[in-house]
Amino acid sequence: MQRGAAHERIEVIQQTGTHEQQTPVAGSDVTVIGGGLAGMAACIHLTRAGLRVLCVDAGGIENDAVGESLDWSAPGLLADFGLTMDRLIEEKIATYKRHVTLKLGDGCDQNYIPGEWLGRPPFNVELRTLHVDRMQLNRQLRKMVLSCGVTFLEDRVVAVETNGRRVEAVSTQLGKRISSPWFIDASGSASSLFARAFHLQTYEAGPRKVAIWGYFPVTTPVEGTTLYADGVKPPYMEWVWEIPINPNTISVGYVATGETIKAGREQGETVEAIFREKLGRFPRFESLLRAVPAIAPSVTSFVCRMHGRVAGPNWLIAGEAAAMVDPMTANGVTAALRHAAEASRLLIESRHRQRIPWLGAAMYSRRILDLAMFFNYGIERVIYESPVRNTIGVLKAGDVYTIPAWCLNSIYSRLRPRGVLKTLLFCFLLNLSRLGTFLFYSFCKWQQPSRQAAA
Ligand SMILES: Cc1cc2nc3c(=O)[nH]c(=O)nc-3n(C[C@H](O)[C@H](O)[C@H](O)COP(=O)(O)OP(=O)(O)OC[C@H]3O[C@@H](n4cnc5c(N)ncnc54)[C@H](O)[C@@H]3O)c2cc1C
Repeated sequence: MQRGAAHERIEVIQQTGTHEQQTPVAGSDVTVIGGGLAGMAACIHLTRAGLRVLCVDAGGIENDAVGESLDWSAPGLLADFGLTMDRLIEEKIATYKRHVTLKLGDGCDQNYIPGEWLGRPPFNVELRTLHVDRMQLNRQLRKMVLSCGVTFLEDRVVAVETNGRRVEAVSTQLGKRISSPWFIDASGSASSLFARAFHLQTYEAGPRKVAIWGYFPVTTPVEGTTLYADGVKPPYMEWVWEIPINPNTISVGYVATGETIKAGREQGETVEAIFREKLGRFPRFESLLRAVPAIAPSVTSFVCRMHGRVAGPNWLIAGEAAAMVDPMTANGVTAALRHAAEASRLLIESRHRQRIPWLGAAMYSRRILDLAMFFNYGIERVIYESPVRNTIGVLKAGDVYTIPAWCLNSIYSRLRPRGVLKTLLFCFLLNLSRLGTFLFYSFCKWQQPSRQAAA
């Protein structure tokens, strides 16, 4: 199965002409493009505020939903929809994630656990988070979306009609022309409709990567996410995830550069063979692989990238369509839910105006861009690339990445930066931390030749 492959065929055409051939669809206040996590969350927020919402989705709900290991901010955002941790656990849609463990091929490992003092006053931080069965979670959310009265249209948006910086309408594959006062683009990373329509600036972090993953039955899952990596100081990190998505199933995935997978394919290896070969290097998977003679793994390719100015006069971009963060950060679900909540709030506040206030739109864009840059450049420089890893070791590098990432994510949840002051203060903290990482990375890189010579 190939997630995202169909999206790449979409052509975004800007047009302002006549539309005799198309069936007009109007009557909604907001058109949400994409019924993934960000799109569904936005639909619920908007209908709760009394707006009439049309959601157009290309039919991806049953397609390889991924994003199963949540960071510590996601449960609070899911609880806004009544999906509390207790409920998700009880309904076997989720398992507890109490820690992240990094295991190396040479047998070393390290647990990353938030300190217990954070759970006590005055901090009172929830130290648990979840792994989720995304297919089941998506079904639950889809039920909520439909029961809220959202009109759902299974169709693919293929054209965006613009007038200056405004979106006038979108057209679909089945010949519908949808107009509404407001739009949210939550079409995911492969489509990025509005970013392409408005030629938004794109910032990429790291090379194109490929993820191959499958599911295995287990009897004793661990209450944590486990990451496996080679301990032999590879020039660029490859890794394997193990995520218990429900009490009887683990999700196991392999992430490598597109170049690595391409090289394997050029030597005639199938995707399954590449997957088996990689997992076979870790003793944990030997018996699981033996028990499952044939795997039909899912596969997707992606580039971690973020866009600038993801809000316009009558539109906003949310979720991966705005910024794709690396899966290792486990921040994608939080980002999708946060964007959806913040984009919906801006639209709700602007509903009686002609346009979204410029400052509100600018601050929304700033937060998305700076936070995604912080995660993506941080994980690239500290974990994926070799200079920092090879200087301090991969286990310590894990700390260097995890501690600021965890703290800044928690600060975001507490501070809820919305206005100008809080946004600028928060972005200052993000950029300060990013600068620190960059200086340390540059130092390690500068030292690398002399260390190699000494070795
Ligand atoms: C391999 C991998 C592993 C990951 N692991 C994690 C993890 O462990 N933890 C975590 O937090 N995050 C993880 N993520 C990220 C997480 O999955 C995403 O951030 C999140 O699901 C994004 O949701 P979204 O709604 O923005 O996009 P999507 O879920 O991609 O939804 C987009 C929707 O838009 C629809 N669509 C697309 N184009 C059109 C169109 N033209 N017209 C109409 N509809 C359209 C699609 O059908 C789809 O339903 C991972 C990502 C990848 C790739």
